[in-house]
Amino acid sequence: MSSFAILRRNLSPSIRRLRTWAPAFTSQSSRFFSNTHNVANQPTSLYSFTEEEEMFRDVVARYATEKILPKVAEMDEKETMDPEVIKGLFDNGLMGVETKSEYGGANGSFLSAVIVIEELAKVDPSVSAMCDIHNTLINRILNDHGSEYLKEKYLPQLATEKVGSFCLSEAGAGSDAFSLTTRAEDCGDHYLLNGSKMWISNSLEAGIFVVFANVDPSKGYKGITCFLVEREMGIEIAKKESKLGIRASSTCGLNFDNVKVPKENVIGEVGKGYKYAIEMLNEGRIGIAAQMVGLAQGAFNATMPYLFQRKQFGQPIGQFQGLQFQYAQIATEIECARLLTYNTARMREQGLNFVKEAAMAKLYASQVAERTASKCVEWMGGVGFTREFPVEKFLRDSKIGAIYEGTSNIQLQTIGKILAKQYSQ
Ligand SMILES: Cc1cc2nc3c(=O)[nH]c(=O)nc-3n(C[C@H](O)[C@H](O)[C@H](O)COP(=O)(O)OP(=O)(O)OC[C@H]3O[C@@H](n4cnc5c(N)ncnc54)[C@H](O)[C@@H]3O)c2cc1C
Repeated sequence: MSSFAILRRNLSPSIRRLRTWAPAFTSQSSRFFSNTHNVANQPTSLYSFTEEEEMFRDVVARYATEKILPKVAEMDEKETMDPEVIKGLFDNGLMGVETKSEYGGANGSFLSAVIVIEELAKVDPSVSAMCDIHNTLINRILNDHGSEYLKEKYLPQLATEKVGSFCLSEAGAGSDAFSLTTRAEDCGDHYLLNGSKMWISNSLEAGIFVVFANVDPSKGYKGITCFLVEREMGIEIAKKESKLGIRASSTCGLNFDNVKVPKENVIGEVGKGYKYAIEMLNEGRIGIAAQMVGLAQGAFNATMPYLFQRKQFGQPIGQFQGLQFQYAQIATEIECARLLTYNTARMREQGLNFVKEAAMAKLYASQVAERTASKCVEWMGGVGFTREFPVEKFLRDSKIGAIYEGTSNIQLQTIGKILAKQYSQ
């Protein structure tokens, strides 16, 4: 069954009912505009979703609350991803969101992937990270640059059973990623990979690794080439990091000791790996922004009811103006981060240049996530600081938003360079 068929099957009764009553008016904006005047062909709000996008949100939100939420604290404590959770991601069609149906995917829009990442992060940013990397980096690079052979062989596996991992960073190559030293030696019908990677997410669970290695260091970054490596080809999973946040998401080092990779497993052109990595990370930043928006909303949702249950000085603390102004400010910031993220996703769908906006979305959403989670802990007082409530975890999880897929300084550098070019001409 294709992922899209699975999504339809898992559709909640409420959405199904909505469709039966008013099939033409399923999006928020069309419901609103239908009461005003005919606005066909006019630009719509950023909250205009297709039926499929609504369906994704509905399915993911339900799956996350019913099946992931009960496991979040234990997965964090044990620093492991429950295999049942991973299976659920596949079973619900969430690991091939944009992959074409002919390869077993859901053939969804990019915004659908953003919605999936956001909804998962409301409940667990670790699960969201796994799904984000898998969809926006691994599936994406194969969809965009994989040969027909690679697509036919691996996209169906990635949509149904095998987790993907993106392997760029090394001990000496973080922000300066293209100074990587992992070598790929041309041996006729195959390459031999030697070297080490660091900080690789999903690596404990993954079956498929997208690995960047240099075929000719004398060419500098123009020797960097992208390979699809199966776990069974001989990758050694090295040290697993114990982390501050997103602890259920595995982060390990990898060793390559004469790992033999067939030539047909080169993704795209030899020497173009740096270009593909930049493309993937530009797009991936929208995914991280979505993760951070979801995280902020999740922390906010977990905190707000408490403010109206907890009484001090004879009234709910949420009624004090001192708190009211703070949560009004934070809610506004979350809204801004979400709109920035959705807008960048739509720009990407329309084929517009979105590099600056993606960097802005990631930068801002990660700041908002950290601020929101920190405020939520404060607003809950002592209990917010304990592990009895989920907000301290959201605070720990939020910090990664300023680090992976380009640190905040690197986002500022990207935005700054584009602006400098624009205004210095
Ligand atoms: C939990 C986790 C998961 C990760 N997952 C993956 C993954 O799946 N795949 C992968 O390939 N990588 C992954 N990474 C690596 C991640 O992308 C890098 O950590 C990140 O790019 C930063 O590199 P670094 O840690 O070496 O920091 P550094 O590059 O050493 O940066 C340290 C500090 O210096 C600043 N800095 C560096 N250069 C400049 C500059 N030019 N101007 C101003 N400031 C600068 C940075 O902003 C930062 O504050 C992961 C990292 C973590 C922590």
